[in-house]
Amino acid sequence: MAIDLNGVRVVINGAGQGIGAAIARGVAESGARVVIGDIDGDKAQAVADSIGASARAIRVDVRDRASVRAAIGLAVADFGGLDVMFNNAGIAQVRPFLDITEEDFRAVMEINALGVLIGTQEAVRQMLAQGTGGSIINTASIAGKQGYEPLGHYSASKFAVVALTQTAARAFGKDRIRVNAICPGVVATDMWKTIDRGFQDNALTSRPQEAFETFAAGAVLGRPSTPQDLVGVARFLASPESGFTTGQSIMADGGMVFVCPP
Ligand code: NAD
Repeated sequence: MAIDLNGVRVVINGAGQGIGAAIARGVAESGARVVIGDIDGDKAQAVADSIGASARAIRVDVRDRASVRAAIGLAVADFGGLDVMFNNAGIAQVRPFLDITEEDFRAVMEINALGVLIGTQEAVRQMLAQGTGGSIINTASIAGKQGYEPLGHYSASKFAVVALTQTAARAFGKDRIRVNAICPGVVATDMWKTIDRGFQDNALTSRPQEAFETFAAGAVLGRPSTPQDLVGVARFLASPESGFTTGQSIMADGGMVFVCPP
């Protein structure tokens, strides 16, 4: 039987494109009502328009607590509450280890890790006020399980996501709030345009897309993933079908973690 998300009220940040947009569409297809947040408000609006009446859009910067609160407030005002929070926004930046500046480190940590802390805190506060429990789903990465060069600060931020996920799961299990993470591997999104450009700018590759192809070759399933490949696990974690699963960081990487990519 297909997973049914009828009546489930969702906020998903970083959903103007890529993995977040695919998950927003996927959970809406299963019946959920969805607030789509993104720092690019026009992109968020376009995704909401493509879904229709069960979606709302709002400009959210996950570093800014007030805007995260506003996204949750929109779900409360228009849908009556919050059942599922996806903290999905993230950025990648290529820097050889010795070239990572304090500024680079802060910029990546602020969106990828602090953004998840803020999103989790605000979702928990709303769920506690409702007394309903809920499900919080953070997008970590295979880079939250292994350090990758030249993505040291990105890897650090994703290890932080895994740690925040486990800690919040421990803190709020008694309140029936589950907290899990999804760890994608190599997903064909615009993020890889940034990574590939970074490899080229640092003279680490000779061809566009070489980094993407090299990393993607590490998946034992024999192909890179598409954003659609993450939708099933997102639906599962959003639904009561995963009702006894918490504190987990679920690999959805095509088997990359079993091999040692270059
Ligand atoms: P993407 O660049 O296609 O999409 C990221 C979205 O986040 C964009 O719409 C962007 O505008 C938004 N965003 C950026 N900064 C924001 C902020 N401060 N506040 C709100 N929104 C913001 O990337 P993607 O590949 O879809 O990545 C989504 C998540 O998946 C990220 O957390 C990323 O680290 C993670 N991830 C991606 C891959 C991959 O191979 N693409 C692998 C593992 C994990």
